[in-house]
Amino acid sequence: MVLIMKSKFTQEQLQEAIAAMETGGVKVMVSKGSETTILGAEGNSAKLDEEYLSQLPGVERVMRVSEPFKAANRKYHPDDSVIDMGRGVTVGGKKLAVIAGPCSVESEAQIVAVAQAVKESGAVAMRGGAYKPRTSPYSFQGMGVEGVRLLMEAREKTGMPIVTELMSADQLPFFEECVDVIQIGARNMQNFDLLKKVGRSKKPILLKRGLSSTIEEWLMSAEYIMAEGNKNVILCERGIRTFETYTRNTLDLSAVLAVKQLSHLPVVVDPSHACGKAWMVERMAMAAVTAGADGLIIEVHNDPKNALCDGAQSITPQQFEALMPKLAAVAACVGREI
Ligand code: PEP
Ligand code: MN
Repeated sequence: MVLIMKSKFTQEQLQEAIAAMETGGVKVMVSKGSETTILGAEGNSAKLDEEYLSQLPGVERVMRVSEPFKAANRKYHPDDSVIDMGRGVTVGGKKLAVIAGPCSVESEAQIVAVAQAVKESGAVAMRGGAYKPRTSPYSFQGMGVEGVRLLMEAREKTGMPIVTELMSADQLPFFEECVDVIQIGARNMQNFDLLKKVGRSKKPILLKRGLSSTIEEWLMSAEYIMAEGNKNVILCERGIRTFETYTRNTLDLSAVLAVKQLSHLPVVVDPSHACGKAWMVERMAMAAVTAGADGLIIEVHNDPKNALCDGAQSITPQQFEALMPKLAAVAACVGREI
């Protein structure tokens, strides 16, 4: 349920409305938007008396929200959320956030070279996996602690915030100390225990869509994080599994439009994991910007042929450099900038 306040109301009226909702057993999320102030009920709102609440002074109207996601719902927060990724970088505003870097951190020389190159081309944050969720236990599993340390070194040299995947809650204190944005990978999108734990963190969370998850399931996973108090969620569409096997996954661009309509959270698109083919990345990245994505996360490797993970879908720093002005041109067509 949401309470929409009148265009003019007093602080006492606001407090009275909040108290009335809390008496009904819910937590209240206050959203002061550009035009309206909205009080959203988090939790079970079955005991709230709609009739009574709608007659409180200062309250314009009361609306039941049928969707199961509340804190992530645009009805609770009509304005787009702008999330701070650290180091002065934000995602969700007019400026698109382009995050780039290798699938995995492999060495100091590799991560520093790629980070410097993508920064020069206009990336605002870097990615790089240190803990890798691999299908085979015999594949490279990531450099672990040393990988995170190398990311920090690249951050030192470039000033860009780090995005890297957390696979186990055991590593959360270490990540909170060292990284800027915590990625929850597609395979862990419904690891509810992990979601609750990162929900108690203050770090922004990049939540990838699960391999076969519906839009509602994805938003409910965001809700798990937000319900614990962490409202800094960035959604990431990275392709879903369909009957098609030519591409690694199927990039669901209509999901970007749907989610932007249903939720106030920013959405970034990962064309690399969606397609699995480096030659498709440029066009799909441009398409994602056209569809209204708030940013991109792109795999870039200095030597894709010899990459330890996801070489086939990684573009080179030179290809990334060529891509950025094209993205800027497309962004201008849809009222955004890079
Ligand atoms: C990754 O970002 O390298 C990754 C493993 O992504 P996903 O969880 O989308 O497969
Ligand atoms: Mn990858």
